Amino acid sequence: MKHYPVVELQGDGIGPELSAAVHRLAERLPFRIDWQSIDISVEAREKGGKELYDRAVKAIEDVGVALKHPTATVKESPNQVLRKRLNLQVIHRPVQTIPGIPTNFKADVDLDVVRIATGGTYDDPGQLIGTEAAVSLRIIEKEPCRQAALFAFELARKTKRSVTSSSKHTIQKVTDGLFESVVKEVAKDYPEVTHRVELFDALLAKLVLKPQSFQIVLVLNEYGDFLSDMACGLIGSLGIGASGNYGFDKNKGIRVGMFDASHGTAPDIAGQGKANPTAIFLAFALLLYHRGEVRTASAIKNSTLELLREGISTPDVGGKLGTVEFTDEVAKRVEKKLIDPSWTSKTIRLHADKLGADKLGKA
Ligand code: ATP
Repeated sequence: MKHYPVVELQGDGIGPELSAAVHRLAERLPFRIDWQSIDISVEAREKGGKELYDRAVKAIEDVGVALKHPTATVKESPNQVLRKRLNLQVIHRPVQTIPGIPTNFKADVDLDVVRIATGGTYDDPGQLIGTEAAVSLRIIEKEPCRQAALFAFELARKTKRSVTSSSKHTIQKVTDGLFESVVKEVAKDYPEVTHRVELFDALLAKLVLKPQSFQIVLVLNEYGDFLSDMACGLIGSLGIGASGNYGFDKNKGIRVGMFDASHGTAPDIAGQGKANPTAIFLAFALLLYHRGEVRTASAIKNSTLELLREGISTPDVGGKLGTVEFTDEVAKRVEKKLIDPSWTSKTIRLHADKLGADKLGKA
């Protein structure tokens, strides 16, 4: 049996329940996950200080992949610290209509936001000029732009979809212009991938009017932040999604991947056994997809979404099941799919199409 080492960063609030759910699901998979658990909850951070982060960073660098549970931000944001320390320069955030989740928006969304995770104004604390004004420095560097573009075009090539890069290059000519010029350079190596450029304000309008025109959207840091949240608003949920955060090596390969759920620690329901593990399962599926376990990743994603569509879910999305019961339902369906010989990659695709969207199955 294959073994995959995975660093698991334990968090706060519902973190321990989500961790238990992922372990419960992982036990039913046709390979073993060797979890290397590191507690980065508030309490552990207070005790462990900088050394705790050193240990987490070293483990992730050694193993190459990590699943991170939600953590509370007290003095610092562990997400920010880890992103910086691991030099995670690209965030991949798939946003897709989740069957069964009520939304004001009628059309289906199936978007991959690829965001440069560093630079822009977010890396600059800003400075007051006297008392009446403030200034901030916006830095755009070629290297992370190139890495994000490579990630987006590789994803597009594998999944046979288009890339739209978006910025305000007509106004911020130097900075956003530099980003678009790097993207164009990378695009030259992918003649089979359609590449379009959209001004960011126009993109937001077009996305609302015709979301199906956009597939992979490649953006700088701040734009990516706004776009991900807007897209989540369209699908009716900020919380039921996951992202992959990637760091690269000198040869432009992926060095490390850290995967997490989009929601927070949900302290109001912690310890009550009713946390919804959907997002962490989607994060786990992204991790397995990254490790090449495409079939299992698709089975996890499809099974989870299938249950939501059928109204079999946790109370936050209108269901009656607790975390453990929902996890067992997912595991049962995953097992069934994996032993079904007709569950081939072709079926995954067809099945996914029926669900409305599935990037994992298209690879
Ligand atoms: P944080 O400060 O960690 O971001 P928060 O409470 O501000 O925490 P979330 O944790 O995202 O933000 O929670 C927002 C609301 O959504 C809460 O009512 C919470 O219970 C609910 N929620 C978030 N994640 C889940 C989940 N996985 N399952 C069930 N409910 C959730």
